[in-house]
Amino acid sequence: MRLVLLGPPGCGKGTQAVRLAEYLGIPAVSTGEIFREAAMRGTALGREASGYMNRGELVPDELTIGILRERIQQKDCAEGSLLDGFPRTLPQAEALKMLLSGMGKSLGAAVNIDLDNETIVERLSQRRVCDGCGKTFHLVASPPPVDGRCDACGGRVIQRLDDEPGTILRRLEVYREQTAPLIEHYRGESLLKTVDGHGSVEEIQSRIRAVLAT
Ligand code: AMP
Repeated sequence: MRLVLLGPPGCGKGTQAVRLAEYLGIPAVSTGEIFREAAMRGTALGREASGYMNRGELVPDELTIGILRERIQQKDCAEGSLLDGFPRTLPQAEALKMLLSGMGKSLGAAVNIDLDNETIVERLSQRRVCDGCGKTFHLVASPPPVDGRCDACGGRVIQRLDDEPGTILRRLEVYREQTAPLIEHYRGESLLKTVDGHGSVEEIQSRIRAVLAT
């Protein structure tokens, strides 16, 4: 099964993607994670991507599509994959379609997690992440351990640079201008399934599984 998970920054895509991928037995592929890992390792890709990421901008299509192409051609994606954070522009959606059709495959569904702006800003400004394993915390709903060390891997719990207030607003603007049009695009392809992004992680996960079963 090949799926994409759409939604504004902070809607819980990453958290939902990991759970859903595990449930479906396919890998979750996050272009944001690939870029962050490359940035941590200090590779050329990481250096190039981190400038865009830290400003809340999108990494250019050409670079992002190349990374995604390489990733989904790997063996573990042979039976399917769940794309988290890709596509984010119409050209990326077109490229994905071509790429899959070249592999004799097609997209099964685009799940859109819907959330209002106020909740997005609240969630992103309260979000903290582990710099080791990427585990996500929320200062109020799921606070990180008091010693600032991740309880899953012992890594440091930090605030993502792109979760700082000015950058959050820029990311929302970029989302509205460049990514939100994908909702209509996938509706037009009869692939869109929308779920409400309010509520607990478990509630949202159940909604996603339910729409995929329809
Ligand atoms: P995410 O972890 O999905 O929130 O992505 C973090 C950042 O990585 C984004 O704000 C972009 O700067 C970059 N990024 C991730 N995926 C893409 C994509 N498909 N196209 C362009 N930039 C991306």
